[in-house]
Amino acid sequence: MKNEPKSLQEAILYFSNIDNCIEYLAARRWPTGVICPICGSDRVSSFNAKRRTWKCSKHHSRREFSVKIGTIFEDSPIGLDKWLAAVWMLANCKNGISSYEVARDLNVTQKTAWFMLHRIRLALHENYPGKLGGEVEVDETFIGGKARNMHLDERERRITGTGGKDKTIVFGALERGGKVQAAIINNRKKNVIHAQVKNHVEAGSALYSDAFHSYSGLARYYAHTVIDHAEKYVDGKVHTNGLENFWSLLKRGISGTYVSVEPFHLFRYLDEQVFRYNNRNTKKFTFTDSDRFNFTLSKITGKRLTFAVLTGKVGTTYTC
Ligand SMILES: [Zn+2]
Repeated sequence: MKNEPKSLQEAILYFSNIDNCIEYLAARRWPTGVICPICGSDRVSSFNAKRRTWKCSKHHSRREFSVKIGTIFEDSPIGLDKWLAAVWMLANCKNGISSYEVARDLNVTQKTAWFMLHRIRLALHENYPGKLGGEVEVDETFIGGKARNMHLDERERRITGTGGKDKTIVFGALERGGKVQAAIINNRKKNVIHAQVKNHVEAGSALYSDAFHSYSGLARYYAHTVIDHAEKYVDGKVHTNGLENFWSLLKRGISGTYVSVEPFHLFRYLDEQVFRYNNRNTKKFTFTDSDRFNFTLSKITGKRLTFAVLTGKVGTTYTC
């Protein structure tokens, strides 16, 4: 298609036309022709320009469908013009984007923007189809629970000890020169850490970790070397600096842009940061803003997120 957007400004202009939105989305969702999202049949009527829908020729309910059906945009009263602009922003803003900013830029309420961003984050979730290999750093970090960001009553309820209590623990593995994989874990016991390492790292890889005792015993499966942070941080190839860099990006995004993140929602911010890190520009690969946008769009089909699932509990506050 000609005149496809390359910057946020161009994207907002281009997608302000609903027909551009539909054409752009349909071409990426169905590159070889429109398919019924209900039954998968390709025997579909030509586009009804007046209703902006297609119709499946098979007999079933909901035969008529729009490009939104079966995507994270389904059931949303928000127009695709705003949705696609929001996707562009989230896919490309290096430190993340807050719902307050999106609300201002797209002229929606902050609560609406919050919900939109969480739907998009869900689309960014990676299931990590393959394990990491080669030289892999593993580490874990604590996130959240900062007292200064809490209301007084919440602070009294939650700040009951020191150290890791009330914080969320994130495990991470980073293939040097490659991708990062991360997961939220309940504790740092040996069986949990070992399970995570085995889940994310190919057996036989070179494994680098700090001297934390839960990593001991992995030398049976990996070429495992340890850097004792009490002594030094780098010993030739033995360090976890790549992962430290990822942690600082993650923490900067969460505490800078998002001020306070409820632990329940943290995994979605983690997904967002993993996506951004794994699609960053490196010596080997360069991605343009439209590459990241298109990649995000490729992940929106087959995923729905209802309000109930998203909030998961009563009393959620729509911060960030
Ligand atoms: Zn059908």
